[in-house]
Amino acid sequence: MSNKHQDRIDAFMEMVKAKGEHEVEFLQAVEEVAETVIPFIADHPKYEEHKILERIIEPERTIIFRVPWIDDNGKPQINRGYRVEFNSAIGPYKGGLRFHPSVNLSILKFLGFEQIFKNSLTTLPMGGGKGGSDFDPKGKSDNEVMRFCQSFMTELSRHIGADTDVPAGDIGVGGREIGYMFGQYKRIRNEFTGVLTGKGINWGGSLIRPEATGYGAVYFIQNMLERTGDELRGKSVAISGSGNVAQFAIEKVLQLGGKVLTCSDSSGYVFAPDGIHSEHLDFLKDLKNVRRGRIKEMSDAYPEMQFFPGERVWNLPVNVDVAIPCATQNELNGDDAKKLTDKGIKVVGEGANMPSTPEAIAHFHSTGVLFAPGKASNAGGVATSGLEMSQNSLRLSWSREDVDQRLQEIMKSIHDQCVKFGRDDQGKVDYVKGANIAGFVKVADAMIDQGLV
Ligand code: NDP
Repeated sequence: MSNKHQDRIDAFMEMVKAKGEHEVEFLQAVEEVAETVIPFIADHPKYEEHKILERIIEPERTIIFRVPWIDDNGKPQINRGYRVEFNSAIGPYKGGLRFHPSVNLSILKFLGFEQIFKNSLTTLPMGGGKGGSDFDPKGKSDNEVMRFCQSFMTELSRHIGADTDVPAGDIGVGGREIGYMFGQYKRIRNEFTGVLTGKGINWGGSLIRPEATGYGAVYFIQNMLERTGDELRGKSVAISGSGNVAQFAIEKVLQLGGKVLTCSDSSGYVFAPDGIHSEHLDFLKDLKNVRRGRIKEMSDAYPEMQFFPGERVWNLPVNVDVAIPCATQNELNGDDAKKLTDKGIKVVGEGANMPSTPEAIAHFHSTGVLFAPGKASNAGGVATSGLEMSQNSLRLSWSREDVDQRLQEIMKSIHDQCVKFGRDDQGKVDYVKGANIAGFVKVADAMIDQGLV
C-alpha cells in the first residue's frame, strides 16, 4: 500500500479513536473497512466529497434503555438494553439481537457496522442495525427468559416496526426468545406484522431461516473452492461453536461429503477423530437447543470422542483442510492461524462475525489461504431473514426447496461480487477487500442520492 493511502488511513483512524478509544471491537471493524475502502475512494473522489466514510461510521441513532424484570425468587433484576440503528440508506434497519453478559456498546456498534456491508451484499433492500442486552439466558428458567424478553420488548417496541427496524436472533437469542418478544410486540401494538425474523414456522417464519447462516457459510466455501477447481467432498473441517450457526454448518458439510472433526462451546472443544456423523449432530442439537447442556456431554455419550477443557478447536491434534469459526468475535488469533497453516489449512470461511483477529487474517493472506470474512460468508442468515420479510409482506410461504435455491443464488452472487471487487491482476482474490468495496458502493451511492441526512 502506498504511503499516501496509509497516511490517510492513519489520520482517519485517529479521528475515529478520538470519538471513543475504548470501543475496541468497533475500532477493529472500522479499521478493516478503512484499509480496503480508503484506497478505493482515492480513485472515486465523489465519496470523499460527500464525506461518506465519516458519515457511515456514525450510527443514525443509538437507543440505550433499562430492562427491569422479576426473577423466580421474586427479586427485581436490572439489565441494560440497546438498539443501534446504524444505517437505513438502502432499507429498514436489519440485524440481530444478542443476549450475552459481554454485550456492550462497542460490540453492538461493531456488529451493526458490519451489518451495513453484509446486508448490502445480499442484494436485498435492508439497512444495518444490531441490538441486545447484557442479560445471560444461560441457567435461567423459561419463565425468567420470558419475563426478561417481555420487558425488553416493552421498550424496544417504540423504536422498531416492519418498515422501520426488523431485529432477528444472534448469540443467546433463538426461537424461544424471538417467540416471547414477538408475542409482547403483538400485545402492545395490537398488530400481527413481520417485525422480527426467525419466527416460528406456524406464525410467519420462513423455512430454512434457522439453517441459513450455517448452510450459507458452507455454500460460500463451496463457491471459493469451485473457483479454484476444487470441492468440499472429502475435505476435513474444523468447526468452532455448537449453537445455531455451528449446528447447520456441520449439517451442510456432512451433506456435501466433508468430514467434521470438531465442535465447541465456551468450556472447551470436542474432537471426533472419525468425524461427527448425523447421529452425533442430532445429539448435539438436543443437547444445545433442548437440554441446554455443556459440550463435554458429547464425549461422555460417545467415548470415541475426546474433550479438551478450556481449549479452542484450532489446537486440534491432526491436519485439517477447512476451518469454519462459528462461535464469537476474536476467537481465532494470529497464533491460532499459524497452528492452522502448520496443519495444512486451505480455506477459512467465517460463520461468526469477526472471529478472526487482524493478525490471523494477515497471516492467512500472506500464506495464500483462501479467507472469507463473515460479512460475506455468513450473510445467508440475514438474506433469508430478508426472504422472510418478503413472504410476510406477500402473506405467502415459500417451499423449503424454493428458499434454499434462493439462498444458494444469493451466496453465489455475494461470492461473485467479492471476486469482482477483490481480484488482482494475477486473478488472486482478496475476499476482505472485495466484500468491503462491493458492500460500500451500494450504500454510499444511496447516501449520495438521498442528500445529507
Ligand atoms: P448461539 O448462541 O446459538 O451459539 C453461540 C456459540 O458460540 C455457542 O457454542 C457458545 O458457547 C459459543 N460462544 C459464545 N460466546 C463465546 C465466547 N465468548 N467464548 C467462547 N465461545 C462462545 O449463537 P449463533 O450460533 O447464532 O451465533 C454465533 C456467531 O455467528 C456469532 O458471532 C453471531 O454474531 C454470528 N452470526 C449469527 C447469525 C444467526 O443467524 N444466528 C447470523 C450471522 C452471524 P456457550 O454456549 O458456551 O456460550
